[in-house]
Amino acid sequence: MSTNIAYDEVRKTELIAQYESIRKIVRTEAEKAHDDKDSSEVSILVVSKLKPASDIKILYDHGVRDFGENYVQELIEKAILLPGDIKWHFIGGLQTNKCKDLAKVPNLYCVETVDSLKKAKKLNESRAKFQPDCDPISCNVQINTSHEDQKSGLNGEKEIFDVITFFLSDECRYVKLNGLMTIGSWDVSHEDNEENQDFTTLVNWKQKIDARFGTSLKLSMGMSADFKEAIRQGTSEVRIGTQILGSRPPKNEARII
Ligand SMILES: *Cc1c(COP(=O)(O)O)cnc(C)c1O
Repeated sequence: MSTNIAYDEVRKTELIAQYESIRKIVRTEAEKAHDDKDSSEVSILVVSKLKPASDIKILYDHGVRDFGENYVQELIEKAILLPGDIKWHFIGGLQTNKCKDLAKVPNLYCVETVDSLKKAKKLNESRAKFQPDCDPISCNVQINTSHEDQKSGLNGEKEIFDVITFFLSDECRYVKLNGLMTIGSWDVSHEDNEENQDFTTLVNWKQKIDARFGTSLKLSMGMSADFKEAIRQGTSEVRIGTQILGSRPPKNEARII
């Protein structure tokens, strides 16, 4: 495993400045949103999809450990190249037949886009089979709060409760429930209004599930365009790509090295 990935100083200065500037905004917004110090913990997931391994290494050397990827093959390749203590989050559309490849990645930390009972079971089964000694995979259930057809995610109570029930069952030992995730609708995130309806919907699901199952679910909501709003509405994690790493190349032009 090669972890001596080269990068240039200009890029390093730029990325660290952007990361620190986002971190400051996140901290300020979190302090405004929460009174007690404990709940002001909002984590930043750096979304590195389509960005080179050298960008990730710069932020890694700066102390960042959590990175989010959207494509299974790209995550696998980056996980081989980069240090083993990175916590990889898969945040892309999840396909049942890719669950196995994902579960094989030893330092896959979280799958944020579990949107069916079948996929939850497949992840558990594959982790048990291929990486039984690694940490269980943290999972978020993805909710389609905007009811847009092109978005994945569950929005029916029965389906949602069935997945949660599975995660809390004894059978489920290689994946564990962390929380809920949503991608807010683009239109809503670009309206300059006070409250984002998608985020409100996700918070309502959390309250409903916590009340019913005695859980204490985390929330992953908010991206470059709408993370401040997400913090105000109580998210635990924001997923930020563009505002830290800059705009992304088209997929066919993206290079890992
Ligand atoms: C790409 C992506 C992000 C990051 O988006 P930016 O607008 O670049 O911050 C966050 N979440 C998901 C699910 C994504 O696919």
